[in-house]
This record gives sequence, C-alpha cells and structure tokens, in this order.
Amino acid sequence: MEAGIDSDSDSLGSEAARLLRYERQLGLPGFSQTQQEKLFMGSVLLLGASFVSRTVAMSLAQSGVGTIKLASASLSELSSARQFLSSVETPDSKLSFQLLSEPLMGHLEELMVAYDVIVDGVERWQTKLLASDVAMRLGKPLVHSHSSGLRCQVYCMVPGRSMCLRCLLIQLEMEDFPREEASRFSSLPALESIVGGFQALEVIKLLSGLGVSQGNELMRFDGLSGELEVLRGLDPKSDCPDCGRP
Ligand SMILES: [Zn+2]
Repeated sequence: MEAGIDSDSDSLGSEAARLLRYERQLGLPGFSQTQQEKLFMGSVLLLGASFVSRTVAMSLAQSGVGTIKLASASLSELSSARQFLSSVETPDSKLSFQLLSEPLMGHLEELMVAYDVIVDGVERWQTKLLASDVAMRLGKPLVHSHSSGLRCQVYCMVPGRSMCLRCLLIQLEMEDFPREEASRFSSLPALESIVGGFQALEVIKLLSGLGVSQGNELMRFDGLSGELEVLRGLDPKSDCPDCGRP
C-alpha cells in the first residue's frame, strides 16, 4: 500500500515536471494541457534532412511532439542532420533517421502510413509530387514548402480540403518546373529557418487542433522585399484523380 502511494505521487510528480518543460507554450491563449497531450501523442515524418527539415525537427522536439522521423535518400545529409540535432532531443520526443531507398514510390507509402503528418522538406519536385500522390491516397496532411532563391512558399495540403501539389503546380503556372529545375539548389540558412518555422507551426496546429489550418491557402514570402502574400481558394479539383472529391 505504502509503495502504491509513493508510486502514484511519483507519477503525479513526473507528470507535473513533464508539463513544466512546456510552461511557456501552455501559457498561450487556447493552448491547454489537452493540446500538449496531443503533441506528446503526435507523430511526424519529415521528408528530406536539409536545414529546413532540421529546423522543423528542432521546433517540434522543443514543443514535445512525441515521434519525429527524418527520412532522406542522402546518407551524408542524414548524418549531418543527426549530428545537428543530437542536442535537441527531449525526454518526450523520440527522433529517428531513415535512409530512403528505391523504388521511392513503394518505400514512401510504406513509411508515410505510420505517421499523422508529413512534412515536405525535399528539394526535387519529382519527390514532392510523389509524396503528394501518396499523402492524398492515404488521407494524410502534407505540409509542403518550396524555395527558389530568396522566395519561398508554404502550403498545408489537407486531403478533402486542398488541391494536390500536381494541381497546385498548374494553378501557379509552374508545370514545367519539375523538368527544368537545376541539379544544384541555392539557398540561405536564414530563409530556410523561416520556411521551417512556418512548417513547424502548421504541424503543431494540425496535431494539437490549435487555431485553424485552412488547407486551401498558400503563403508566399519574398525574402528580398519582405512581402508576404496569401493565395486563397486552392480547393480540390473535381476532375483530378488525386484530389478530386469522389
Ligand atoms: Zn489534384
């Protein structure tokens, strides 16, 4: 009996200590212990292990998201991400790393099915489009990003509420982009941390239910001019086999 009482008080004490780690976000309007518990239970798959993905992983771990995996086809990128993130793991967040192998399509589906939210942190459009196809088929939200020079965009694709990335490319008149993109990508860590921050915020909103994820809005940011633009009305296309409503 004595041992039982001690054990209960220990678990209450450890729960209080656990919540204390997140007292700053628990002080936000609309963010309660319920939202925090949802983050503890949440699982996120980050495609790509670039600086964008590392920023997302770091933010999510610091907010107590329970399961975070970075998956990349580049072993050197993964090793570098593992080293970068070695100090950000918290007692409530488990970080893991996985090498993506070919054929990517089958591997992605096998991997993505186990996670609540998918984050697009890859550079190549062909991989983004594959991830969009699989996410739509599995009904998983995908938080997309793309940057070109000092311009970037973030789009929270929610199946049933959003057009897929294939339709988005047509909408943005970027159909030729996947064929024309360069083999080398240029970027600036300062901009990548902004992109990763926007993506992490969308993931936290999706997992916790905090605020609103519209699903049909794309945010564009121009790092040179400082202008922020929101494109609305990106609803599913009824004639699209991927995002069209049945
Ligand atoms: Zn579509």
